[in-house]
Amino acid sequence: MIGVLRGLVQTWKTHWRKRVTVQYPDERLPLQPRYMGFPGLMWDAEHDEPFCTGCQVCMRHCPTQCMTVTMMDNPKFADGTSKRRKIIDYFSINQSRCIACSICVEVCNFEAIEMTHIFEKANYYPDVVVDLPDLLQMSADHRAHKDTMPSRETRDQL
Ligand code: SF4
Ligand code: SF4
Repeated sequence: MIGVLRGLVQTWKTHWRKRVTVQYPDERLPLQPRYMGFPGLMWDAEHDEPFCTGCQVCMRHCPTQCMTVTMMDNPKFADGTSKRRKIIDYFSINQSRCIACSICVEVCNFEAIEMTHIFEKANYYPDVVVDLPDLLQMSADHRAHKDTMPSRETRDQL
């Protein structure tokens, strides 16, 4: 009998406890600033081209080998409007294999790639492979909500 009463009391207390879950996808919890979704490629607005030079360092370090990168001569270097001799030609990420480890971001010497907050990308092959325009758009979408991002100094301390 005592056990039953204790159970009822516990149920009563739990009933009034503040809810911590939400009805996803209609409701969403705020993402923490350092949350890492899929990587996206950043756009150099000053030179009107991607920051990525296609150097393949990220591709060689990716533990799941889900990236494909090729570079080409930068036509803007030839006409003197960019300092980049080489520029990205083709970039794709197979998101079904990406584990959002951020190693590609850590090894990039040009700060051309960043971890976005985007994670809802479930799809079937081959649509799960995102190409250069998609990756640039992901970063642009992410930066549209950049006020949720901490500064570089703050991120280094996290
Ligand atoms: S986050 Fe990790 S797994 Fe995903 S593309 Fe970058 S290095 Fe590869
Ligand atoms: S994202 Fe960075 S490391 Fe990867 S190819 Fe582009 S410039 Fe090189």
